[in-house]
Amino acid sequence: MTEQQQFDLIVIGGGSGGVRAARISAGHGARVAICEESRMGGTCVIRGCVPKKLLVYASHFAEDFEAAQGFGWRLDEARFSWSSLIANKDREIDRLNQVYHRLLDNAGVTTFMGRGVLLDQQQVQVGEQVLHAEKILIATGGRPFVPAFPGSELAISSDEAFHLKELPKRIVVAGGGYIAVEFAGIFNGMGSQVRLDYRGDKILRGFDDDLRDRLEHEMQAKGIVINHHSQVADLKRKQNGALKVSYQDGTESEADQVMFATGRKPYTWNLGLDQAGIKTDVSGAIPVNVDSRTSEPHIFAVGDVTNRINLTPVAIREGHAFADTEFGNMPRQADHVLVPSAVFSQPPIGTVGYTEQQAKEKYGRLRIYKSSFRAMKHTLTDIQEKTFMKMIVDDATNVVVGLHIIGVDAAEIVQGFAVAVKAGLTKDHFDATVGIHPTSGEELVTLRDFEFAE
Ligand code: NDP
Repeated sequence: MTEQQQFDLIVIGGGSGGVRAARISAGHGARVAICEESRMGGTCVIRGCVPKKLLVYASHFAEDFEAAQGFGWRLDEARFSWSSLIANKDREIDRLNQVYHRLLDNAGVTTFMGRGVLLDQQQVQVGEQVLHAEKILIATGGRPFVPAFPGSELAISSDEAFHLKELPKRIVVAGGGYIAVEFAGIFNGMGSQVRLDYRGDKILRGFDDDLRDRLEHEMQAKGIVINHHSQVADLKRKQNGALKVSYQDGTESEADQVMFATGRKPYTWNLGLDQAGIKTDVSGAIPVNVDSRTSEPHIFAVGDVTNRINLTPVAIREGHAFADTEFGNMPRQADHVLVPSAVFSQPPIGTVGYTEQQAKEKYGRLRIYKSSFRAMKHTLTDIQEKTFMKMIVDDATNVVVGLHIIGVDAAEIVQGFAVAVKAGLTKDHFDATVGIHPTSGEELVTLRDFEFAE
């Protein structure tokens, strides 16, 4: 075995979690190899958070142009070019992809572009090469899941949505989670006719009910048709190229694209897990302990492949904690409690802590503060969109245990306030903080009216 093929750590998967683990481990002096079968950067950078947010910005201009008139601007008719947006977005993703390569090179990590397959507990095959290491980290992420039904191969997932040759005039979005509502908003803003079909009775299961209701209302007000208890049963390509969509309830519709956003599956197939003695759970994920260690003591896993909290910053923290523990002599664990998150729907959602339902079960008697208002940005316009804020306080301790916001800048506001919630601050701490006027965020330090809930 040559020197080059012997490492202290092999990382399989060059996404957010894998790259962070590789760089930090190398910084601690480990000899690290990383293999990636697609493009360095992973889901978030290449076909997830980053390009998605660029498309959200792009689509929101439609509303901004309309709003501009209220502020005295007169614009000639605005025209939108999907192909130039996609080309510009691709250029930015190429740039970030190069940044990832450079970061790894600068950290002294050896990169192998190819699929990594476990041969046993300490060997990984990449193409013709066999790499050997003391430890292996699996960070292969997840892949879109599309249920099987006749014609399902005609549907696209978010992966393909980023590369469509043209903007669909009519699109059906199936699903009611993060990706479904974000893409419904993107296509709607760009002028597509959007129909969202969700199998349940309220989108965004798992989020606070008030936010779910309000997002549905706002999406509908912007022109998105939301159908509940609606599931695609069959897709057929018509002669004119359009798709005939048949639903389980016997109804039909027609669309230029049908996008499935029905969840993602941990990417654990054809990875050689059997050869390494690792079993997956019912969701296909790799079970790990608090140190991200699998059932095999030399093999670890971080990020979406473990199906804990499937968010980029969480994967990064898991990867970093792994590297510090295993190679930096600084044992620590990633913290999965009170993780803030956002949905880049239109309007966006930001949330941290417990929903009202969860908080009732955990704490009992609560004080619920709510505020709903039209953001100042909209006051000179015809936009009727409302910002809504909800604070959940444990009545016994006065600690703020949940914050849920929908409206302009919700994600940015919650990122700041999440520090306070994570720190376990009380309502008194919020009240003692002077607001910044005029902002939406100041509402959170001036909330006075509440109702008890238990
Ligand atoms: P989600 O798990 O959020 O949502 C999946 C949706 O599809 C749910 O509404 C679910 O319904 C529905 N569904 C699942 N299976 C079927 C089926 N067989 N037929 C019909 N409907 C079905 O997954 P996403 O794909 O939206 O996102 C994947 C993950 O990516 C998320 O968990 C999230 O962690 C991450 N993500 C985060 C983002 C962010 O932070 N802003 C953005 C995008 C993704 P039901 O509710 O009934 O189960």
